[in-house]
Amino acid sequence: MDFALSKKHEMARTLFKEFAENEVKPLAQDVDETEQFPKETAEKMAKNGFLGIPIPKEYGGQGCDPLTYVMCVEELAKVCGTTSVIVSAHTSLCCDPIMTYGTEEQKKKYLPDLASGKKLGAFGLTEPGAGTDAQGQQTKAVLDGDEWVLNGSKCFITNGKEADVYIVIAVTGIIEKRGRKLKEISAFIVDKGTPGFSFGTKEKKMGIRGSSTYELIFEDCRIPKENLLGKQGKGFGIAMHTLDGGRIGIASQALGLAEGALEATIEYVKERKQFGRTIGQFQNTQFQLADMATKVEAAKLLVYKAAMAKATQKVYSVEAAMAKLYAAEVAMEVTTKAVQLHGGYGYIREYDVERMMRDAKITEIYEGTSEVQRMVISGNLLK
Ligand SMILES: Cc1cc2nc3c(=O)[nH]c(=O)nc-3n(C[C@H](O)[C@H](O)[C@H](O)COP(=O)(O)OP(=O)(O)OC[C@H]3O[C@@H](n4cnc5c(N)ncnc54)[C@H](O)[C@@H]3O)c2cc1C
Repeated sequence: MDFALSKKHEMARTLFKEFAENEVKPLAQDVDETEQFPKETAEKMAKNGFLGIPIPKEYGGQGCDPLTYVMCVEELAKVCGTTSVIVSAHTSLCCDPIMTYGTEEQKKKYLPDLASGKKLGAFGLTEPGAGTDAQGQQTKAVLDGDEWVLNGSKCFITNGKEADVYIVIAVTGIIEKRGRKLKEISAFIVDKGTPGFSFGTKEKKMGIRGSSTYELIFEDCRIPKENLLGKQGKGFGIAMHTLDGGRIGIASQALGLAEGALEATIEYVKERKQFGRTIGQFQNTQFQLADMATKVEAAKLLVYKAAMAKATQKVYSVEAAMAKLYAAEVAMEVTTKAVQLHGGYGYIREYDVERMMRDAKITEIYEGTSEVQRMVISGNLLK
């Protein structure tokens, strides 16, 4: 077992870090204040290949492993939670299911533009009545000749309206299993601009305020028969497997937020003086920092382990759930302590840590709440 990163990974990290420091950090406060999607940053990330990191080279991607992708999201999140989730939702929730379940035609049609960042991706599973209970889907897709006709809506969709390609989960029928009537759920690829597909409410959020979170509306939206992703009736499995990968992305976002807050706090306590000493000289501060750093390191090992599991194992649900659960809770704890150690200044928007604390909260909620992660982990223990 080797805990050291390879030279290739170190080089990739340096690239992500420099981009984050030079291109993302200077805009982070403004993105939060104005709640504007950072379009120019997304374009620059596209140029740098950040939107196609794990996509194979034959489809125009960088052909890198999940760990490289994780480090990209982590470095971006250290300085801006919004920017990191743009990459995560695009890569894990849209590109990945097309790579995993797409036909050769679908891969050739969609992946090159997604990998180059010419097009952005999103994933629509959640509905007003189907959050944690993702099987409570109401959106329907009915086959009519050579087309599927979609009706219904999705809520809280990251990269909504900005994205060009959407993975959409919908009910395609009712099946009988052991005398019980169950929904048959399927997955589809839907292009922005398809007649009958529009956007509803834009959410105003506590954190990741530049991330574009929209409602998707389908009214007799007709898509070609070939846009079914995977087999008919396998959509729920596709969604769950996609979320396993997505959770590693969100765990990386949480890890980055915690690291960013810790770094900012270390800087701050070395400067700020009270009682004639820097506050870093008080033992309470030192012990708080020690606990924060230890938890960040533990989270990092879980996140990197989950990334390695995705690279080598077919099933990595538990690794992903543990990484997301722990990293998200560490992010919340570390950012909250970071605000405390900044004192009154930590509560002022000029300082980055209050934004990091607001951004951290969502990592405990989306792509499965912490409670869902506990269900996945305990379900595996007791099976
Ligand atoms: C900013 C943002 C971005 C998002 N992006 C996307 C996206 O891109 N695509 C997408 O499809 N969705 C997205 N979501 C949706 C997100 O995944 C859901 O909000 C989340 O899964 C929780 O669902 P819910 O909001 O309906 O909460 P609910 O399911 O109503 O849960 C409320 C509370 O009850 C708990 N709970 C529910 N059931 C149980 C149970 N059986 N046992 C114990 N506790 C339970 C939950 O853990 C939670 O604490 C996003 C949400 C937000 C806020």
